[in-house]
Amino acid sequence: MAQLSDDCFAFGGELMPAADALERLVASTEVVAATEAVPLAAAYDRILAEDVISERDVPPHDNAAVDGYAVYFDDLAPDSESRLPLTGRVAAGHELGRPARRGEALRVFTGAPMPHGEGEAGPDTVLMQEDCREDGGAVVIPPGIKRGANRRNAGEDIKRGASILEQGRRLRPQDVGLAASVGRAALTVYRPLRIAVFSSGDEIYEPGAALGPGGIYDANRYLIAGLVAQLGCQVVDLGILPDRLDAVREALRDAARDNDVLLTSGGVSTGDEDHIKAAVEALGHLHFWRLAIRPGRPLAFGQVGRVPFVGLPGNPVAVLVTFLRFARPLILRLSGCARTEPARYRVRANFDYKKKPGRREWLRARLETAADGTVEARKYASDGAGILSSAVYADGLVELAEEVTRLETGTMVDFLPFNEMIR
Ligand code: AMP
Ligand code: MG
Repeated sequence: MAQLSDDCFAFGGELMPAADALERLVASTEVVAATEAVPLAAAYDRILAEDVISERDVPPHDNAAVDGYAVYFDDLAPDSESRLPLTGRVAAGHELGRPARRGEALRVFTGAPMPHGEGEAGPDTVLMQEDCREDGGAVVIPPGIKRGANRRNAGEDIKRGASILEQGRRLRPQDVGLAASVGRAALTVYRPLRIAVFSSGDEIYEPGAALGPGGIYDANRYLIAGLVAQLGCQVVDLGILPDRLDAVREALRDAARDNDVLLTSGGVSTGDEDHIKAAVEALGHLHFWRLAIRPGRPLAFGQVGRVPFVGLPGNPVAVLVTFLRFARPLILRLSGCARTEPARYRVRANFDYKKKPGRREWLRARLETAADGTVEARKYASDGAGILSSAVYADGLVELAEEVTRLETGTMVDFLPFNEMIR
């Protein structure tokens, strides 16, 4: 009888669950990035390396929320029109220049500071200009306004001493805007990591070159370089490693001198021509994990000297999936980023699927809007780990948990959009 290995145990042992691998990866690493101060204009997409505390109230003063008239509420008749003399004017960025007086109305414009009174509070209420009419040096105000209307209070957005942005946040435009609103001109952020990227395999050729016998073009390095760059890291492209132990060892040792992370693809299976593992073992430590996942079972993780090393599989789809689910959280953590997991959304599958229990799977799927307006995931027809077209077709990954064995059309599934992980 032929010896057919159950592919769950093809490596001769239990496969490690995806969650365990992720936990070990993230737990074994700390932020390695140094920090630097950058002006706000250079802070977008950088990872904040400080907790930003506001040194002032925002807005800094009570101010008018509309163009209109500032009055003391108590000067208004509750049930009939009021007529108040119009005796002053305050535009945004200016002041009245004298204390406000009871009984007067002041022309104010949006953002103008509310005038103060003489030894007492100033006008507390603003009427919209559309609601009032000017009549011979006076303003005629209808009844019905609320005390304190159309006024913005000092500190209503941010109180002095408040923590407004926390360390580890990737800075979006609104985050940089908030830092600007409290008067910060520069922020302390983490320096981008330098990440060395290698392909490996005697069959791998640079696009544009003539293919040798049995050759294929290098898809992975271009895929990985883009993924790394979009995490805000500096890509150090170190080309294609041959299937020769000495050459691999030398290249990894050199790269470990001036890079923060080493990333390879291919060469981590158990074939005779897979030298990456042996090279890393010779230069440092290696954990080689047979993961209970599909695509992308073999994943090597370790260090060359003190530099973290991740050996991704060779098949391009497996590269994409294992990068996004394992290398990405690791790199983000090393980069100082607090949030390493992408958001996931529940969507309806519009395909049937059969799956082996005991492993986590990621299917490439596109989102479509069904007739009833809800969102459905449509799977790419071909599932192979080498079918990179599936990733181009897709908007993201459907993640199927270990215990799932079959999926029927209409089942709700977890969807991880690429645009949460690849910006
Ligand atoms: P390996 O793990 O080295 O045996 O590679 C597994 C499969 O992935 C083989 O079919 C390789 O030819 C393919 N592969 C490895 N590296 C690349 C690459 N850089 N671009 C495209 N395919 C690759
Ligand atoms: Mg190979």
